[in-house]
Amino acid sequence: AQPAQESNVDVLIIGAGPAGLMAAAWMAHCGVSTRIVDKRNTKIFCGQADGLQCRSLEIFDSLGFADRAWKEANHMIEICMWNPGTDGVIRRSDRIPDTIVGLSRFQQIVLHQGRIERFFLDNIKKYSGDGIQVERGVLPEELEIDESKVEDAEAYPVRVTLRVLTEEEATPEQQVSGSKVSDGIFRSNLMVGDDEDELIRKSKARAGESEVVHAKYVIGCDGARSWTRRALGFELQGEATDFIWGVMDIIPITDFPDIRMRCAIHSADNGSLMVIPRENGLVRLYIQLKEVTPDASGRADKSKITPEIIFGAAQKILSPYKIEYKYCDWWTAYQIGQRVGTSFAAHNRVFLAGDAVHTHSPKAGQGMNVSMQDTFNLGWKIALVAKGIAPRSILPTYESERRRVAQDLIDFDHRFAALFSGRPAKDVMDAEGVSMEEFKDAFLKGNLFASGLIVEYAPGCLVAESAGEEAKKLASGLPLGMRFNSFKVLNQACARPWHFQERLKADGRFRVVLFAGNVLNEEQKARVKKFCEEIDAPESFLHTSGTLGGGKRAVEVLTIHSAKRVDTELLRDFPDVLHPFDEDKGWDYDKVFVDDVSYHEGFGDAYKGYGVDRERGCVVAVRPDQYVGWVGELEDVERLQKYFEGCLVLGKTREVAVR
Ligand code: FAD
Repeated sequence: AQPAQESNVDVLIIGAGPAGLMAAAWMAHCGVSTRIVDKRNTKIFCGQADGLQCRSLEIFDSLGFADRAWKEANHMIEICMWNPGTDGVIRRSDRIPDTIVGLSRFQQIVLHQGRIERFFLDNIKKYSGDGIQVERGVLPEELEIDESKVEDAEAYPVRVTLRVLTEEEATPEQQVSGSKVSDGIFRSNLMVGDDEDELIRKSKARAGESEVVHAKYVIGCDGARSWTRRALGFELQGEATDFIWGVMDIIPITDFPDIRMRCAIHSADNGSLMVIPRENGLVRLYIQLKEVTPDASGRADKSKITPEIIFGAAQKILSPYKIEYKYCDWWTAYQIGQRVGTSFAAHNRVFLAGDAVHTHSPKAGQGMNVSMQDTFNLGWKIALVAKGIAPRSILPTYESERRRVAQDLIDFDHRFAALFSGRPAKDVMDAEGVSMEEFKDAFLKGNLFASGLIVEYAPGCLVAESAGEEAKKLASGLPLGMRFNSFKVLNQACARPWHFQERLKADGRFRVVLFAGNVLNEEQKARVKKFCEEIDAPESFLHTSGTLGGGKRAVEVLTIHSAKRVDTELLRDFPDVLHPFDEDKGWDYDKVFVDDVSYHEGFGDAYKGYGVDRERGCVVAVRPDQYVGWVGELEDVERLQKYFEGCLVLGKTREVAVR
């Protein structure tokens, strides 16, 4: 055999599902040398995950493609609950809004995973200048970490052997051979065999097609049966339940009146069903399969699950309404179980994300969202560390921040799945049945959780400890560790309204948001001036942090003031550091905003929404992933500097910092 080819790369991503693509997007936006490999020879074209929660859309917007998803998707507006009446016949018992009103500028939408992966691929191509491309049909075979080098910032301590598969090896087998309808059984948890092991064994027989990659960091995003997790010797802990569900994407022909609403349907004796109205006339049905039960080993026999059996169950649950279909786009089945990984990282060099570290039932529409949000949390940290802009000490925050989210997710899913799969109680004395009131309550609470907006990261080097009750009052609408909420403000220079979050782009930069207050008040103007002088000092974080692409420092300053727009002037009332001057481009007109009434889009009332005093303002530091890291007064620059010393590598003076 020929000697294997060897190369170095900063980041190697294993798996190009939603988690892997999100990680690759960060690397593209931050300009980090990256490879991403996937054992499958094509991306997904239909089926799989479809629900996008508000937070995921906010994240897509920060990357630059929320508009594509928003336009193409079906928008989820109302949820209808259907339960058996006293006669045992299902009837509509409640209607609630799908997304809690006022939570976000986005609402929940549905669009199949293949489109979402397409948006990512286009975005990665654009930002990496074609530098990062998914290498398909490539399988990792061996992974070793050189423990003696893990703390050396310049080292490439992770060695991964990759092998290129043949076309045939990289094509997933379909359950029903010859069928025109795609099934997702090969990705379902009903598949027990480790097909990677078989592939590795087969492909080893062919010589000379392996390659050794030395990486600074590896991110294992290779799904629920993660090879990377097994290579590290880590496990998923938790249990499977006896509940088995089928999923079908069909164009329904039916007299059921709420087929274009999201519905939770509990039948008296035939199990439960969830209706998800989708794009292009499709409807997804999640169907409880009461007649398929696991065997003594706890596993269901996947060969007994066919589209006919699944659809038959749906017809029974929906009876007396009739449902048929002529077109089925995709189908699968899964067994509900909730599991979390024993570890999320090895030596803070190899990380696991997405389904590789947490699995649960798909019905709550969380897996893809939480998986993408794992790598939205991790990607910028690795990117900044790989570029020498941030210290390695920020990396453990990935596990501490995301493990809690994963645990909350499976706890939520455990409760939700049991309520959904249980038989409705006949009356208050029916202790074994599920109370429909309890179900509705869980659904409402679940909706808040499912928005992705209540994630709160605990204090650590990236989220400052709250400096007491007084500090909390400075920006009561911007709690530490939570995502920076959005209200409309106007650009001071051109009066165009913007949702402020639109200015918090995912480019790897931290932001200092100066709520400058009423800058026309002389006393306040003096406070703003002093704050600006201090952050503009040569040794300040603003001038000593490293640079990302295009010579941009790792910290940007944005301002929102509360004086009248027409009474203030950008160049007269705001110190230069708030709208820096460039020899070639002149003043920067995109950094100062005002909380005032717009001509066409009303009044955002941002100071009220953020809970900030309109006269005195305050200062907020925001992480590259839009989470609030620090809040203080305009006089607290020393504390702000300390915050940045904890999360960035700062040079001594402005000159030293240029990399
Ligand atoms: P995956 O999407 O599983 O991606 C893993 C990738 O790694 C794949 O491309 C795979 O080919 C590749 N890979 C695997 N092993 C290797 C290897 N050894 N080497 C190289 N590459 C490898 N989530 C939601 O948020 N909303 C929903 O509405 C929703 N509905 C769902 C419906 C169904 C029926 C199912 C099955 C899931 C649903 N989910 C939903 C869950 C969602 O699909 C997953 O949580 C999500 O895809 C996880 O993303 P991931 O990137 O972690 O893993």
